[in-house]
Amino acid sequence: MFENGEGSTILKLLFLTAFGFLLLVGCAEEKAPDASGGQAGAGIVAPSVALIDDERINNAASEPGNWLAYGRDYYEQRFSPLKAINKDSVGDLGLAWSMDLNTNYAVEATPIMVDGTLFFSSAFSKVFAVDARTGTEKWSFDPGVPKDFQRKACCGPVSRGVSVYKGRVYVGSLDGRLIAVDAATGDKVWEVDTVIDHARNYTITGAPRTAKGKVYIGNGGAEYGVRGYVTAYDAQTGEQVWRFFTVPGNPALPFEHPEMEMAAETWKGGEWWEIGGGGTVWNSIVYDPDFNHVYLGVGNGAPWTRAIRSPGGGDNLFLASIVALDADTGEMKWYYQTTPGDNWDYTAVQDMMLAEMEVDGVLRKVLMQAPKNGFFYVIDRADGKLLRANPFVTTTWATHVDMQTGRPVENPETDYSDKPQWILPGPLGGHNWQAMSFNPDTGIIYFPAQDNPLIYAMNEEFKATGVYKRNPGTMNLGLELGNIAKLISDNVDSAPQAKGYLKAFNPLTGEEVWSVEHPHHWNGGALATKGELVFQGDAMGILTAYDAADGNPLWTYNAYSAMLAPPISYELDGEQYLAILTGGGGDDFGGHTNDTASYKYDSFGRMLAFKIGGTLALKAPDIRDVTIPPQPELIASAEDLTRGNQLYHTVCAICHGVMVKSGGVIADLRLMNQNKHSIFNQIVLEGVLAGAGMASFADVLTAEDASRIQQYIISRALEDQVTANAVAPSGG
Ligand code: CA
Repeated sequence: MFENGEGSTILKLLFLTAFGFLLLVGCAEEKAPDASGGQAGAGIVAPSVALIDDERINNAASEPGNWLAYGRDYYEQRFSPLKAINKDSVGDLGLAWSMDLNTNYAVEATPIMVDGTLFFSSAFSKVFAVDARTGTEKWSFDPGVPKDFQRKACCGPVSRGVSVYKGRVYVGSLDGRLIAVDAATGDKVWEVDTVIDHARNYTITGAPRTAKGKVYIGNGGAEYGVRGYVTAYDAQTGEQVWRFFTVPGNPALPFEHPEMEMAAETWKGGEWWEIGGGGTVWNSIVYDPDFNHVYLGVGNGAPWTRAIRSPGGGDNLFLASIVALDADTGEMKWYYQTTPGDNWDYTAVQDMMLAEMEVDGVLRKVLMQAPKNGFFYVIDRADGKLLRANPFVTTTWATHVDMQTGRPVENPETDYSDKPQWILPGPLGGHNWQAMSFNPDTGIIYFPAQDNPLIYAMNEEFKATGVYKRNPGTMNLGLELGNIAKLISDNVDSAPQAKGYLKAFNPLTGEEVWSVEHPHHWNGGALATKGELVFQGDAMGILTAYDAADGNPLWTYNAYSAMLAPPISYELDGEQYLAILTGGGGDDFGGHTNDTASYKYDSFGRMLAFKIGGTLALKAPDIRDVTIPPQPELIASAEDLTRGNQLYHTVCAICHGVMVKSGGVIADLRLMNQNKHSIFNQIVLEGVLAGAGMASFADVLTAEDASRIQQYIISRALEDQVTANAVAPSGG
């Protein structure tokens, strides 16, 4: 629903529910390849491993056994050319090795596999180098993110991966640093602070990208009130090369670059810079070797509601846009805005992939993206011209995209300025950050999609007074979640059901080739292979191989842990492997059932690697006891409970779950016993569990407010005690 990890929704119940740039690491005989950035000058000795450079990434097709970059190569199509694992052999696929990462938080990374070593990040931005044949750790690097920093991250202390380039591994830390470590040793080479304002909750969860001797990185935090930007750093030294802001600051101050002057004309009235404006680039940044562009996938507005952000109207550039920049200078080449005047948390940060395809009889270099708003975009990379915008899920916020103007046509019937409205897609989007995969032979894209609604309701105080009060240190959506939680519980019967799918989709015709509906809406990324298979892990803990032709499941494996990360495939010694990181939750703050793996078992951070004939078995975990224990006495007035509800949903729900039902990884507070209740204020206000990740909230809550929250939690536990202890609540 929110920034960073983009968690699962609110659903059926709810919604239905950068020192020292030359680190000499031996092996002086290998000079760094200088095919691209020209950074490796005379006298610089290259590291010995992981010598990925622009030339290798550009020619990834010549080394099908490796997975060299986030989306395998610069085009980020995520299509594995390997086919030893295919329709005939997949039945014999089995676990070759498993590696425990010792975390229960979500592990969302795409691993990089180069020359026998897997490089990836785990929770709290920890980096691992692992032998890809055996799962034996070679080294690990812990950037030392404070455990209670996760309070500033909406969706868990997640990291979607690293970039490996010229013997170094680059990772963005949750607390906003960009760090280069030596690929051979895991030793830190340099580190830079990317955050422009530490008074705001900036985070990094996305994977850096590397090209032209530079590292490109953005940030997250729109829901907490930040201003988005992307920075390019010199890959050797960590020196800043350029920075591009995605939304204007205070127009009374000098513009940082000319594009901000243009953008400021599309923001009208209001003091959006006080709230932050949003537009964070927290996931997708793609380098295009054909045009020397860097594409930014830009996020939603902060706050969500445009009437608060920009009361005079306007498109609010560059929210929810794909922005093409010159990779060397950061100068804008073109942009395409998917959702002008974003009003729904409709980020366009979702993965972008590059291709060449014939469109209306003309061979074009295109960019494709399925952003949250539910339309699948095909855009000409030369000039940003819109070529296609077909819906891939139910879209009730807009009737269609006008191909003449390139703008969506909003549906007046779902305008929520005057009354609450169920709208599809909701803030989790028709598609979120989970990876999609493209088969260039067939032109079909495979990706996880959702029909996942939210009842949008204007902030009541803003409606009454025209004034919106920003809450520093916590979320500022413009909407009011406590009120929404009540609306949801009052309207469960009329709520559209939250549904999740794996879809095979033709981006040119808009045809849905096939669709598989999952038991739960929030599932993992996809991998298509030359073996005519599509692999995906799901919320129930099951990894499945589907027939790419028709979606029939051909093989399943119980990983006993939810998966959000996409699988990759690689080859060593003539054997094809399929590897995936497991671990969900932290970000699934609602919408799960007692049967979803994170709730049923907990979440297990692991790397699993499969090959034909693998025989290793995973031990089935114990099923968790989720009996709600006896509760302290409920003594609050109705008024205090209402306030407790509002406060809980503003401050606590993002981690602990809407209506006090968590995703299973962060504590489900309905399960607190009397002992925990007796130290509730010490936990919430004094931070006695900060070392375990539960920060103090004394800066935003008084003791009286904490007690109101506690009473609301007790009330919810009592409500669910009877039914939850007997029957699993339905979560859609
Ligand atoms: Ca968001």
